[in-house]
Amino acid sequence: MRKINALQKITLLIFALIIYSSCNNPKTTSQIVFENLQKEYGFSETLKKFRVKYKSISPFSHQSYDYKHPEDPINGYNTSTTEIDLENEQFYSHNKGFYPGEFLFEFFHFQKDSLVISYDVNGVLIGKQVEVGEDTFSNVKKRATSFLDFTNVSDLLTYQKQGDSIETILSKEKNEAVIKHMDKDSSINIYTFKMNPTQLLSIESKAKNTKTVFSNYKDVNGISFAHSVDVYRSDNLQRQYVIEELNKITKVDPNKLVIPEGYIVPNKEKVQEQSKVIEIAKNLYLITTPDGGRNMLFKVTDKSITVFGAPISDKVSKNVISLIEDKFPNKNIDYVYVTHSHHDHIGGLNAYAQQNVTILADSYTIEAIKAYPRFEKDINKFKFSPIRHNQILNDVQFFIPKNSHSLGQSFAYFTDSQIIYEGDFLEVPFDNTIPTYMSKVEKEFVEFVRKEKLKIKRIVGNHRNANISLETMNAYYDSNTTKK
Ligand SMILES: [Zn+2]
Repeated sequence: MRKINALQKITLLIFALIIYSSCNNPKTTSQIVFENLQKEYGFSETLKKFRVKYKSISPFSHQSYDYKHPEDPINGYNTSTTEIDLENEQFYSHNKGFYPGEFLFEFFHFQKDSLVISYDVNGVLIGKQVEVGEDTFSNVKKRATSFLDFTNVSDLLTYQKQGDSIETILSKEKNEAVIKHMDKDSSINIYTFKMNPTQLLSIESKAKNTKTVFSNYKDVNGISFAHSVDVYRSDNLQRQYVIEELNKITKVDPNKLVIPEGYIVPNKEKVQEQSKVIEIAKNLYLITTPDGGRNMLFKVTDKSITVFGAPISDKVSKNVISLIEDKFPNKNIDYVYVTHSHHDHIGGLNAYAQQNVTILADSYTIEAIKAYPRFEKDINKFKFSPIRHNQILNDVQFFIPKNSHSLGQSFAYFTDSQIIYEGDFLEVPFDNTIPTYMSKVEKEFVEFVRKEKLKIKRIVGNHRNANISLETMNAYYDSNTTKK
């Protein structure tokens, strides 16, 4: 046998060392997966300025025209165009929310220093007032991009590079990789990827009990991204996004980062006032929530009290109940009236039900309240008394007009004071400026009260404005129907 020389010995030794070291230090699963991620999603680390247009839908029974058919397109959707510059921390987003009855709430939001400026395009909700809020860009970014697979993966690549706690499991049979990331506050997010090609399939957040599912990957303008994104909470579908356009930009359009003429920036922050009881007519009182967002009325008769409106939460109702009890300690609240079964108008009913107060509403609304998932546990404590169209009860006349906002929806007319209490029949902002858009249901309402020849001194909206005059209502209707 031929002897090997020194050079051959060294070569063999090196070769053996390479084999030895590669056997003992194979690439970890995490390295393999992150190399793939870097290859497929590396582009996201340089894609810092883009415009995204999307549509989102949140089917929700108790925000629908008919609670039994939340999937019906008449229930509306949201659209948004956002331009964002992640490098220079600038953004604007132009959002439109469509709701049953053809309500349209259209807003612009943009960042200026550490402030987020919002204005109402048609002045439907906040009129000509500009809203100024403080917010961090990281929050803004989260809201504006949470449904984009590549911004989520870009964040994940950053977490890995900064050495966060990450666990990676590769399932060859499923051709999937699962990455668990624990963030600063110990909440765990689980990313599931399909491998070859690497695509994000879902992100599960244990803390929020949500799962975001990414699908319908397509290549547009050289960027491959998921065009459909579904968000589930506790396994229920909460929101569906359809991404319609995604374009690289060189900068956020500077024309969109200014407040248009005619808007007023408040010079001080709104002071939150305590709720108080204000008598607006004989035996009729108004209570407004501290933020001014919601209005309730109550009517006092010999022995009994009827409350109008039970919005949002039991907390709001409990505050109303205690204000009434303080003012009229010897009287009982016997009835609470709600206009329709949308979640934000019935959210405070349980507090009344617990006190044995009877709920007044039209029969469709009663049926929908009985089916509201949040009341399931306590529904046997709820007492109802259905109202009929044109019925008069203690000088209050109830009307249930056919309308396009909710299959059953009524308003109350106080015959002696000629005041109307309504919810989602008329949206006039606080400053009584005339909105440049009027929904179908508002037109239906105005036409109805005109047809009924109701004498109106004041309209109290459940939302915001508690003092809409007949003149304002007419000006709103006329300016949105005679033009064009
Ligand atoms: Zn509504």
